[in-house]
Amino acid sequence: MASFHPSRRRHSLTARLSSLVPSVLRWFDAWAGSEERQPPSAQQVDWLRVVPFLAMHLLCGLVFWVGWSWTAVVTAALLYAVRMFAITAFYHRYFSHRAFKTSRWWQFVFAVLGASAVQRGPLWWAAHHRHHHAHSDQALDVHSPHHQGFWWSHVGWFLTPAAFGTKVHAVPDLAKFPELCFLDRFDILVALSLAGFLYGLGAGLEAWAPALETNGLQLLVWGFFLSTVVLYHCTYTVNSLAHQFGRQRYATNDQSRNNLFLALITFGEGWHNNHHHYPAAARQGFYWWEIDLTYYLLVVLAWLGIIWDLKPLPPHLREAKRLDLVVPAYSRHAPAP
Ligand SMILES: [Zn+2]
Ligand SMILES: [Zn+2]
Repeated sequence: MASFHPSRRRHSLTARLSSLVPSVLRWFDAWAGSEERQPPSAQQVDWLRVVPFLAMHLLCGLVFWVGWSWTAVVTAALLYAVRMFAITAFYHRYFSHRAFKTSRWWQFVFAVLGASAVQRGPLWWAAHHRHHHAHSDQALDVHSPHHQGFWWSHVGWFLTPAAFGTKVHAVPDLAKFPELCFLDRFDILVALSLAGFLYGLGAGLEAWAPALETNGLQLLVWGFFLSTVVLYHCTYTVNSLAHQFGRQRYATNDQSRNNLFLALITFGEGWHNNHHHYPAAARQGFYWWEIDLTYYLLVVLAWLGIIWDLKPLPPHLREAKRLDLVVPAYSRHAPAP
């Protein structure tokens, strides 16, 4: 029969409490405790650490309390569009793949815009994404739906200690900029600033433009919680659905697909098989009919002189490794009529 050991119980309680502290600290400082060895439970969801992420979803329920107005709906839609563009153009094509060049000042602006999507900082995002390209749909891929299922690829993988740390060694080209490291560590500041700005804007409009029929809480709920949660799940479809549903034009050694619907909601990222075929290109729609809104806007930024040296798709690669152009073996050896 087990005996009661108060000191052992006290010790285990202390150990549990000390393991909770880094989870809460990481709400504010994303790099807190990142030098520690990962516990054996690194692949299990750390529910305390992800309270802010869960709260983002739960607080969407306030929409039934605050009601709606056209001002709130348009604000939510605009913030979705600006931040989806920031994720695809800057976090993905610029920071992860270096698909174009810009100045250090604009690079910082792009990083702040990306962080406003509340999907962690630019180093964390780019490091995990480069790892995905190195191991796409193989055992080491952190978010392959073919190894750990749809929900893991969509939303599970980044809720675990295994994915919390920023793998700085994978992004030395970004880690050399102290301002980007600061932003990666304290990305929460951007999220809180956006939330505070929206509340203040709504309160100001209520006082000075009552005809717009909005208020601080309504603009916060629509512009921040609802818009961000929709943005989350549309972004995640690239990891989950775009590796399962659609056409494969190129032989890419993974399960990436081209999907028009996903390309529309993610501003071009749905041409994911194209992207895995040649990730360095600034464009992901390889043909004129493959709508790639992000690329069109990048061309405008290039015209304005804000970015330059957009990496093109080499013409010979557009036709290389095409699965739909492979001639069946039997027809190659068929006798001439
Ligand atoms: Zn992929
Ligand atoms: Zn990529």
